[in-house]
Amino acid sequence: MALIVQKYGGTSVGTVERIQHVAAKVAKEVAAGNQIVVTVSAMSGQTNKLIELATEIDEDLLPREYDVLVSTGEQVTIALLSMALNKIGCKAKSYTGSQIAIKTDSFFTKARIKSIDADRVQADLDDGNVIVVAGFQGVDDNGNITTLGRGGSDTTAVAMAAVLKAQECQIFTDVDGVYTTDPRIEPRARRLEQLTFEEMLEMASLGSKVLQIRAVEFAGKYSVPLRVLSSFEDGPGTLITYEDNIMERPKIAGIALNKDEAKLTILGVPDKPGVAHHILGPISEANMEVDMIVQNTGEDGTTDFTFTIHKNDYNKALDILLKTSERLGARKVSGDDRIVKLSLVGVGMRSHAGIANKMFASLAEEKINIRMISTSEIKISVVINERYAELAVRTLHEAFELENSTVA
Ligand code: ADP
Ligand code: ASP
Ligand code: MG
Repeated sequence: MALIVQKYGGTSVGTVERIQHVAAKVAKEVAAGNQIVVTVSAMSGQTNKLIELATEIDEDLLPREYDVLVSTGEQVTIALLSMALNKIGCKAKSYTGSQIAIKTDSFFTKARIKSIDADRVQADLDDGNVIVVAGFQGVDDNGNITTLGRGGSDTTAVAMAAVLKAQECQIFTDVDGVYTTDPRIEPRARRLEQLTFEEMLEMASLGSKVLQIRAVEFAGKYSVPLRVLSSFEDGPGTLITYEDNIMERPKIAGIALNKDEAKLTILGVPDKPGVAHHILGPISEANMEVDMIVQNTGEDGTTDFTFTIHKNDYNKALDILLKTSERLGARKVSGDDRIVKLSLVGVGMRSHAGIANKMFASLAEEKINIRMISTSEIKISVVINERYAELAVRTLHEAFELENSTVA
């Protein structure tokens, strides 16, 4: 007998038929003698609809009330799934996040899980129940409902698996695994048999939304075996694993595309100590996260400074930067929100030289201009005009032969 945590995303529970299909899959696992905890998302499109309703009242969403609102989507699907399970003779109980004490901090709209009452869940499981847990939500110390950020049901599932010491956490979605790149952009993308936590973390944080970043972080931290699978067809999916288990790595695991960033530049800033602090301080005080940062070496006593932030923050950041520019006596501020960030990810990069060069050469051949570059041990990111996003993904996918690279 194994304890397995399964998570089904929005598309997988998008209709009553699909919920019944999920119930049948869960019942099969129970019949095989396993204990199952299921986490579900809201029905597809539902969370967006709720957010639209709220924006009709006020564009500036009240974070506490936002969480009360968007957490309702998952309350619908847990009840329906539990009903569907009981209907086919599989004993099940649904719980909201607060009912099973998924305790979080109080950062509404992006709260972090602190603890979960595992004993209660375990007792219910031992009583022969399937436990259906609402994804994406929790409760803070003051009893306020919180949510975990978009895509947060993945994190609920991994956290449940961690506290229950589940044998595996299975993320069922509308693709049959993690691909070399988003299969919606490159149809020739290939499913990876496995990839490392490090690679998955980079892929997720660089824009591959197949798993929420925090879910991957959590899985890595608590050594939760994590697998991404299709809700609609059987198959092995993709196992997220430790590097040590993989004998031979391909150079590149995959390509991530992030369409959510915008770029800002302040030109001709007097080049003296504290420049970066004076420019980025007000940005971070306004609660905006900065991603890439590039500062030129100052030749004539001035320097240029470029950074990227989330597209949603673009106008706010531009206003702040204009004020900073006046204060510092800079020459000019410019910005561009029509950019994308494209990244190559792979632990194999550590032992292979020349990957950056090949990437730059391939993009140059297609006349794609690179606007910013940043690298780490296992990734290379470039910022390019959004017009070339799809072309660049396909070009690199082909250049690095990802459609037929072998996976150990
Ligand atoms: P769910 O609603 O089940 O959580 P998501 O939409 O959050 O599903 O995640 C699945 C989607 O992630 C896929 O439909 C796919 O378009 C996208 N995706 C982006 N990058 C990748 C990748 N490298 N591999 C697989 N899917 C990816
Ligand atoms: N329903 C939430 C969202 O759409 C959480 C999730 O699906 O994981 O972001
Ligand atoms: Mg998701």
